[in-house]
Amino acid sequence: MRKTKQILLAVLVLLTLALAGCGEGSSSDADSSSASGSESVSDPVEVVEPVEFPWYLTLVNRDNPLPVDFQPPELSMIRSEKYLDSRAYPDLEAMLEAAQEEDLYPLVCSAFRAREYQETLFQEEIQRHLDRGLSQEEAEAEAAMWVAVPGTSEHELGLAVDIVDLDYQMLDEEQEQTEVQQWLMAHCAEYGFILRYPTDRSDVTGIDYEPWHYRYVGRAAAAEIMGRNLCLEEYLEQITSQDQIPEGPEEAPEDVEGEQPPEGAGPAEEGASSEG
Ligand SMILES: [Zn+2]
Repeated sequence: MRKTKQILLAVLVLLTLALAGCGEGSSSDADSSSASGSESVSDPVEVVEPVEFPWYLTLVNRDNPLPVDFQPPELSMIRSEKYLDSRAYPDLEAMLEAAQEEDLYPLVCSAFRAREYQETLFQEEIQRHLDRGLSQEEAEAEAAMWVAVPGTSEHELGLAVDIVDLDYQMLDEEQEQTEVQQWLMAHCAEYGFILRYPTDRSDVTGIDYEPWHYRYVGRAAAAEIMGRNLCLEEYLEQITSQDQIPEGPEEAPEDVEGEQPPEGAGPAEEGASSEG
């Protein structure tokens, strides 16, 4: 008997609610500021703020091109007359010096590239395939496999360097076996650099193994990435909130050593690698 009473009571309550719902003012309930009104509205969707990455964690790849109006950072001239973001410059110099103290001879063969220069590289590559008899469309597709499409090369960001052994300057997989690369792979993170395109991450990075391409990300991120054998894409995916961003390198001092590049002069370049 008690059960029937309970059911009856429930039906009554439901009826009352339904009637109230149909009554006047019900349509504005959602907007009303009354406590009961606001609570009855369905759970608010949690707004996830997109994580904004600082300069040293900027991701540049095929899916994340630089904006067309990207302004290169302040650059400093490093060895072999290449240019790098002034904020990463002191750490690169420190790394190269430390290598030299071990009687190694690292050579920076590529660093910052102006967009126009990347465009030139890309057009030359297209021409190479046109000369082989491919159509314009085919040549462009083929070129994109060997030279980064302008806007998608990390070198345009000013935070990437290609380093080879002075005794072995070929950009091929043998480069990995050189003493310079062995040392760099073991120590780059101490200076805020990572081996950007590890051999077993081509499917994620979209770039074949490049044992000479190093990218500046700051010491904290570099230690994580190299220590846990991640690639930059995987690492950034794990940062889902602003407070997970590692502290960056200290801002470069006002009086940055190294010369500024001359106005309008694109840095000279040799040995362009496939990622651009
Ligand atoms: Zn490179």
